[in-house]
Amino acid sequence: MTPIWVLLGSVAGAIIGSFIATLVLRWPAGRSVISGRSQCDGCGRQLRASELIPIVSFVAARGRCRSCNAAISRFHPIVELCAAGLGGLALSLAPELHGIALALLWWQLLTIALLDARYYWLPAQLTLLLAGSGLALGGLLVGTPLLERIIGGLAGFAVLALIAAGYRRLRGRDGLGGGDPKLLGAIGCWLGWTALAPVVLIAALVGLGVAIAGRKGRFDALPFGTFVAVGAMLWSGLLLAQAAGIERN
Ligand SMILES: [Zn+2]
Repeated sequence: MTPIWVLLGSVAGAIIGSFIATLVLRWPAGRSVISGRSQCDGCGRQLRASELIPIVSFVAARGRCRSCNAAISRFHPIVELCAAGLGGLALSLAPELHGIALALLWWQLLTIALLDARYYWLPAQLTLLLAGSGLALGGLLVGTPLLERIIGGLAGFAVLALIAAGYRRLRGRDGLGGGDPKLLGAIGCWLGWTALAPVVLIAALVGLGVAIAGRKGRFDALPFGTFVAVGAMLWSGLLLAQAAGIERN
């Protein structure tokens, strides 16, 4: 494990996390993510470069805008910290391309998990990007062959689409969100078909834990996509940690 890679992963993660937080807060509201990215959400003032440093600026300004004193959402520094932590962790599991690929997977899954948790929304643009990047880069993780990942993409989509269709027939309403089959398919494009069962199992266990802890009456009102994304994060991390361990021994 090389500290320079971990540092690079964390710093890149903080910067990308700043973008992720802005995207998650603005996209569902139909506001532009790229232009006007550097404005105060309270008074619309253009922020200076020194006010746009991830995490640091929030702490320095004590969470408030210097002009209008509006509270800056804590969501920004929390997401920046999460993305920085994920980047650092990915690069500590394996340096160079393996770890970079894992970080790219995790940052995308973090974005998807946040959008589904807050808005029950899995944008097709993001699941498509996840699928495309998985077909292109998924082999860098632990060398899963392209054919296994193509099958993973098709099988992941088909399994959840069939379950969703069956549920609709039996119960007369939707049990799964429309984006869930695309998400599992995209994860299959990264990790291959052999990862689908463990990812869904972890997702179900995490969902069950949240349902019990939160005492939500309706299990199907929980954001399943968030749990699938968390399941894929955990499983991909375990796969790479195991592969890196074998390589070292
Ligand atoms: Zn302001």
